[in-house]
Amino acid sequence: MCIFCKIAGGEIPAQFLYESAKVVAFRDLDPQAPVHILVIPRDHFENAAELAAADSATISELFTAARELATSEGLDGYRIAFNTGASAGQSVFHAHLHLLGGRAFAWPPG
Ligand code: 5GP
Ligand code: ZN
Repeated sequence: MCIFCKIAGGEIPAQFLYESAKVVAFRDLDPQAPVHILVIPRDHFENAAELAAADSATISELFTAARELATSEGLDGYRIAFNTGASAGQSVFHAHLHLLGGRAFAWPPG
């Protein structure tokens, strides 16, 4: 079972900042901004593309979680990212939304 399946299933303890029927959210182990939260589907999908092909209800809950967490964390601007594929920086192959905020971000991203 993958590491995010273990976190979602409670096998690896994590403090959830948000929970709904289809998603959970917790802080990134190696934060890249003052606020760096991961929102993940409870079910396993390899990446955002596989999730998009399979389950639009879960995608909706991922974005609802991100919006509510941005508000509860007091973010006025923030960045949402789905690294999809190793060449784009994906290192955990269980789909996840990165919610980043609390500092300015450059564009284009590195
Ligand atoms: P990716 O590089 O796949 O887009 O993002 C994976 C993210 O998961 C990274 O930012 C990494 O720091 C984070 N991460 C990896 N393992 C764990 C873990 O066990 N716990 C938490 N909270 N974050 C993790
Ligand atoms: Zn998984």
